[in-house]
Amino acid sequence: MNVRPYTLLVVDDSQLTLPRLARALGPEDFALRVTSHGAEVPRLAREVALVVLCPGEEASGTLALLDRLLSSDNPPGPPVLVLAPPEPRETWLEALRRGAEVVFDPWDADELAARVRRCLALQARMEALATQVGELQRLSSTDGLTGVHNHRHFQERLRDEFRRAQRYDDALSLILLDLDHFKSVNDQHGHAAGDGVLREVAGALQRGVRETDLVARYGGEEFAVLLPRTHLTGALTVAERVRRELRALRVGPDGCLRVTASLGVSSFPHRSVLTPEQLLLTADEALYRAKHEGRDRICLHSQMPPFPPPPSQGG
Ligand code: GH3
Ligand code: MG
Ligand code: MG
Repeated sequence: MNVRPYTLLVVDDSQLTLPRLARALGPEDFALRVTSHGAEVPRLAREVALVVLCPGEEASGTLALLDRLLSSDNPPGPPVLVLAPPEPRETWLEALRRGAEVVFDPWDADELAARVRRCLALQARMEALATQVGELQRLSSTDGLTGVHNHRHFQERLRDEFRRAQRYDDALSLILLDLDHFKSVNDQHGHAAGDGVLREVAGALQRGVRETDLVARYGGEEFAVLLPRTHLTGALTVAERVRRELRALRVGPDGCLRVTASLGVSSFPHRSVLTPEQLLLTADEALYRAKHEGRDRICLHSQMPPFPPPPSQGG
């Protein structure tokens, strides 16, 4: 954060250091807040750009406080600068070893200001890097076209959720969904229109499930919905809602296009679903059957009949 003046928290039992510090660190760049050692320091530290520790008689107290300040990772706290006399040597050496910047007291005002600025600049670079890492993490798990999760992220979550379901004896369901005759959308309206339809379908899927469910683009015009803590009957309800919602969508450039989808559903626990790969495979087999049996329908893994029953088998 690059806001001027920077607020510095000065932790000083003696209250003698503040006026000297104020002379070295001018008010146009730095606002100084003072507190004595105590339990409130970690909380106050969250609101400032830098903490300045002035060790008192008890160096061990300063080092313990330093550890508390520097061990906070989430979110990481501000940098810490220790103002220490050259003797005893062990105090400032230990502060350095634990990750603080150190300036000898009495200090040279220019050096102190330069070291404070260096701490702040390093912190700003760390924060910028953390933001970039967060953005890269988001991008690496997102499908570029539709904005839902990508195949890689889906595979990771499938494995995580399967492990969790096994461990806690919980249910886990998977819906695989493939748009029907999607090639003809591209053929008749162009690839860009097809891309737009995929985006709209992804949006409808995302809106149609709970926040704890995971929607991913499995590939091409195929999507996966992972439903933690959901049995086959619950997954079937979701699949049927999704099928109807997609059918009701008016998509494409003028809202003149309609899409349907075929869906395959599988669930854990089931005697033939003992691994994440088998959950995927059985959902895929069910999807294949839904295609084979006429599209715009849901098929379940297991012996249960397709839902809704095709008209010829409905009576
Ligand atoms: P089916 O009902 O059997 O699934 O027929 P289909 O036409 O959907 O299936 P097929 O596998 O023959 O074709 C899939 C089509 O999806 C062909 C391909 O051009 C289209 N597709 C895949 N990925 C994209 C994409 O990113 N953008 C667009 N516009 N089309 C895509
Ligand atoms: Mg396909
Ligand atoms: Mg298709």
